[in-house]
Amino acid sequence: MAKDIFVVAEQRDGMFRKVTYEAVSEARRLADADGAGVVVAVLGSGVQEIAGELGKYGADTVCVADDAALADYTTEAYAKVLAELITDKAPGLILMGATMQGKDLAARLAARLDAGLVMECVAINAGDGQTFTRPMFGGKIFADVEVEGFPKIVALRPNVMTIAESPRAGTIEAVAVDAGRQMSRVVEKAVQSGGKIELTEADVIVSGGRGTGGDYSAIEALAEQLGGAVGASRSAVDEGWRPHSDQVGQTGKTVSPNLYIACGISGAIQHLAGMSTSKYIVAVNKDPEAPIFSKADFGVVGDLHEIVPAMIEEIKNLS
Ligand code: FAD
Repeated sequence: MAKDIFVVAEQRDGMFRKVTYEAVSEARRLADADGAGVVVAVLGSGVQEIAGELGKYGADTVCVADDAALADYTTEAYAKVLAELITDKAPGLILMGATMQGKDLAARLAARLDAGLVMECVAINAGDGQTFTRPMFGGKIFADVEVEGFPKIVALRPNVMTIAESPRAGTIEAVAVDAGRQMSRVVEKAVQSGGKIELTEADVIVSGGRGTGGDYSAIEALAEQLGGAVGASRSAVDEGWRPHSDQVGQTGKTVSPNLYIACGISGAIQHLAGMSTSKYIVAVNKDPEAPIFSKADFGVVGDLHEIVPAMIEEIKNLS
């Protein structure tokens, strides 16, 4: 029988991150193709109540490690508990989100389990000799890579896999937790102001660069109108116009929304590295030679301070 597929769920304050539903749905699709089971691990404190939710997306078993020692994410405690659970379950493939936490955990788990790791995976290609597609060289190329041995660890880029419901009972299994000696602990949490859509999970992102001159009013209005989030280039962040948490790119966040609207952004390779897997890219730039246009599906040459308000008006007329 095929080895199980193991998913590491990610939750914050008792709510699963969207990428968790994507990972469980993808695990279900792969498992159905070769008769495997889907085992999901949920770690945290007070997470027992939410664990059952994952059966809806195809989890056969949900292993719940519910303990005060896991209330805040720390690499040591989470990696220790997960490594023991994975050794016990002996899955063939481990999926998790390529979020800040997921990437940190994936690397530590790979080292502990002596497992091959694919970071930022954007497609899993089934069949003989399963391969994993991932961007390389800042998104300039996409490589299909194979991983030797078991388990294989794959961190999925958020917003790439499709969420699908495939209801199962989702049997809950309690995991005895020994978080071990912890060398680090969370001292303080800086929480972003409420209501803001997390950039890495947004379906629509309207980003502004140096071309905004620091005026984000139209960009914010367009993002709000489209139910999206505001992003920024590094230049805008360096200017102090936007917080670093809005930065998209090599040294910022990697995003993959359905729609990415780049306003007054030239399209430097370091920016493209963070958004080139967006499904549709729209560029607004007054320079027709700006490199962003070579990546864009749709482009408007013009002043963003005129174009973006005009877009807002047009969208208003549509509704
Ligand atoms: P610019 O390159 O100055 O472009 C501004 C654009 O706005 C121009 O194309 C101009 O034609 C247009 N424009 C001006 N006025 C208007 C207007 N009124 N209407 C319409 N268009 C207008 N950059 C990132 O973004 N993210 C990263 O994570 C990142 N990491 C980096 C890491 C390293 C190690 C290095 C060396 C660089 C990194 N950079 C990163 C910086 C990157 O190289 C670029 O400098 C940066 O992306 C440029 O930002 P920009 O496009 O906003 O500014």
